[in-house]
Amino acid sequence: VSKRIVVVGGLAAGPSAASKAARTNGSASVVLLEKSPHTSYGICEIPYFISGEVDGSRLVSYTPDALKERKQVDARAHHLVEEISPGKRFVSVRNLKTGKTNQEYYDRLILATGARSKRLNVEGEDARNLFFVRWLDDAYQLKTYLQEEKPKTAVVIGAGYVGLEMTEALTRCGLQVTVLHKSSLPLSYMEHEVRERIRSIIDGQGVQFHGMVRTEGFVLGRDRKVTHVVTSEGTFDCDLVIECVGVEPQTELATAVGIRTGSFGGILADQRQETNIDNILAAGDCCEVRNIINKKMMYLPLATISSKTGWVAGENAAGGNAVFRGAIRAIAIRVFGLEVIQVGISSEEARDSGFDVVVDSITAWSKVGIMPGATKLTVVTIADRKSKRLLGANIYGSEGAVLRGNTLAVAIQQGISVDDIQQWDLAYSPPFTPLWDPILVAANSLRKKL
Ligand SMILES: Cc1cc2nc3c(=O)[nH]c(=O)nc-3n(C[C@H](O)[C@H](O)[C@H](O)COP(=O)(O)OP(=O)(O)OC[C@H]3O[C@@H](n4cnc5c(N)ncnc54)[C@H](O)[C@@H]3O)c2cc1C
Repeated sequence: VSKRIVVVGGLAAGPSAASKAARTNGSASVVLLEKSPHTSYGICEIPYFISGEVDGSRLVSYTPDALKERKQVDARAHHLVEEISPGKRFVSVRNLKTGKTNQEYYDRLILATGARSKRLNVEGEDARNLFFVRWLDDAYQLKTYLQEEKPKTAVVIGAGYVGLEMTEALTRCGLQVTVLHKSSLPLSYMEHEVRERIRSIIDGQGVQFHGMVRTEGFVLGRDRKVTHVVTSEGTFDCDLVIECVGVEPQTELATAVGIRTGSFGGILADQRQETNIDNILAAGDCCEVRNIINKKMMYLPLATISSKTGWVAGENAAGGNAVFRGAIRAIAIRVFGLEVIQVGISSEEARDSGFDVVVDSITAWSKVGIMPGATKLTVVTIADRKSKRLLGANIYGSEGAVLRGNTLAVAIQQGISVDDIQQWDLAYSPPFTPLWDPILVAANSLRKKL
């Protein structure tokens, strides 16, 4: 059946949904509307663009023209969707270049409006040298500022993964970086020993980390530039501020027409990514997601989930029957020389969810110990004593952590017991792994504790 599918949002979930819809139903007419000048770009690569590791000209994967030519999606940048009329099935769209509005009719509408940076809402937050890291234009502006104004010191507010990636990027650019964080250690959801290790890694790079700090405002000097960050723990001088205090779902279009949201403010879609309003689906960072392990809803704004939920929404909008089962939380990060991955739930979340929690930690060689470049990996595992099921894991080391963590992510998603993991037949070859892979060593050790 020929259908008209309109997608709002053109970054990760939107292009994934639109391309999948066009592939699923070759006769569908698929329109993608994006308010910014850019579509389908690598936001996750921005810290590496700032550090100089990635060439800025390669950040955009699909321009609107490429989406048209290669994905058969009528993609339009500079198009802001202002309103949905669910009864008459159209959206009101403003062309931000001409200022004109028009109506786009749909058979199915997919909302992929994403998330915006949270703000502290304190004095001076609109300073010229204060940057958020959320959109491509933020990155271009920051890069230009670094090149033209040559700041020497930076304060990064927030030590989540984006804050840490930006800390590394600015340090690589030669800036002296101070990190201000609301809790005593960087990141959340990781186990205490891993967070301590990350703290010691950034300390070792000369980064000043201050925990338990509440930012209260910014003192601006000449040219509306921040000169000092005022906090509960004193004042910090700087030439540049990066604010990375998280993101929040953008759901104004959705809530205006009665689309249900959850306790985190994200859209509640079902497994087919359908909302409670007929013919409207939603995907990506504007949605909440179900945790497969404890069945609780969570807000997990990640590209991995955006592209998968986008895919499911696109297929279903085009008449298919796809399902998104949920997520476990799988996050990897490079902190200077350290590879870190966290999969599944933390020991604290596991306790809160009523599991009888056992936590174990082992250290093992990443490859045969006498091979050049062999380093130690630490594997922290979290399991349920009753079912012997693996609930979560953190792995860190100089190399080989992330893909091992992804292997354990499969076990966590499939509800595989620690006894079964210990039986896994994994490859052994001296340049890559020791005879007993660290994840087998971890499973053996955890079994004893269980
Ligand atoms: C620095 C950084 C690093 C990251 N690294 C990782 C990583 O390593 N791994 C990972 O999994 N995730 C990572 N993420 C998260 C990932 O980028 C997001 O989860 C992903 O971009 C979400 O995609 P989305 O399409 O759902 O939403 P968004 O990226 O928020 O895109 C929504 C789009 O919709 C547009 N829009 C909104 N409202 C309207 C409207 N009314 N009309 C028209 N257009 C509209 C917006 O302009 C935007 O382009 C990172 C994020 C950042 C900022």
